[in-house]
Amino acid sequence: MNFKLAVIPGDGIGPEIVDQAIKVLDKIGRKYDHKFEYNKLLAGGCAIDATGGPLPKETVEACKKSDAVILGAVGGLKWDTLPGHLRPERALLGLRGELGLFANLRPAVIYDELKDACPLKPEIIGDSVDIMVVRELTGGIYFGERGRREGSMGQEAYDTECYSVHEVERIAGIAFEIAKKRKSRVTNVDKANVLESSRLWREVVTNVSKDYPDVALEHLYVDNAAMQLIMRPGQFDVIVTSNMFGDILSDEASMITGSIGMLPSASLGEKSFGLYEPIHGSAPDIAGQDKANPIATILSIAMMLRYTFNLEAEAKNVEDAVNKVLKEGFRTGDIMSEGKTLVGTNLMGDLIAERI
Ligand code: NAD
Repeated sequence: MNFKLAVIPGDGIGPEIVDQAIKVLDKIGRKYDHKFEYNKLLAGGCAIDATGGPLPKETVEACKKSDAVILGAVGGLKWDTLPGHLRPERALLGLRGELGLFANLRPAVIYDELKDACPLKPEIIGDSVDIMVVRELTGGIYFGERGRREGSMGQEAYDTECYSVHEVERIAGIAFEIAKKRKSRVTNVDKANVLESSRLWREVVTNVSKDYPDVALEHLYVDNAAMQLIMRPGQFDVIVTSNMFGDILSDEASMITGSIGMLPSASLGEKSFGLYEPIHGSAPDIAGQDKANPIATILSIAMMLRYTFNLEAEAKNVEDAVNKVLKEGFRTGDIMSEGKTLVGTNLMGDLIAERI
């Protein structure tokens, strides 16, 4: 099969890590007889330097014409003093909006080989932790009506949370579909004991669950979910939640793994179109030094193969290759420990590609 990919390397370590992901994808292409065409595009700081703005129109147009988008990372010191609307990170918000990406998927996996990096005690980690947080990305309180006004006690400010049935149905649908490909458990997280928007959210998720009789559904209040993630992370499979709760819980879930250079993410829109990127930033402190861990970006490619292209065997092949390289003891600096072999960005990419 032929796939057209928009590739946005971005700034800092972005270009180095994206190169490794392409290396791995090319190997997948050769092995499974797929052709991946890459269209390299500007966004972030490098786009500001070249065009005066963080997200050129051509980039958006080219992304819309592609089957999926791969992004490295954007931002850096050089652009930190620019006004908000001109900052490199605006490119990320712009892309999400322009591409209609309403679902954010963030896995949090604790690898056997890297259990030492996890800040939780071994007895809490248990046998395994493999969580997928599905966060609604384009609605809720971050996009609701807001403002300031004079109240009875002086100036006050307000933000509103509003969700439509349609918005909840589509994010719940994604969560249940993903759960079918995993351990068939969905935990809905809301605050239905207090918020009306959460009560509607819970009703709709419960209704959608009727189309998925083989997937178990449970509901947790967000405060309890935040505790459970620390106390018994192994109980979770897929967590589905609103924009703000997801923002907080996905960071909490990923931090319990202890390895920021290992965590991929996906943002999905209609018809499985998606943007795939590592969760970390552009790491300007190590850019251009062959020190960056490319695994988060390589695992983002695995997510792309699974969720946009429905190529499960290929996705699994990438994940197995990453596991194999870790088992063999190869480590980049960020996940290095005693007795392991230190490798650079490039060699890590080569090793993973070789094991496909
Ligand atoms: P960061 O994630 O870039 O770096 C935090 C720390 O983790 C640094 O010490 C860095 O060296 C390390 N790190 C990150 N990724 C790594 C990797 N793959 N391998 C090894 N070590 C890695 O976060 P920051 O320092 O807060 O932000 C740096 C820049 O990135 C800022 O301009 C910020 O706005 C931007 N940023 C971009 C994105 C994105 O593009 N999605 C996300 C977060 C931050």
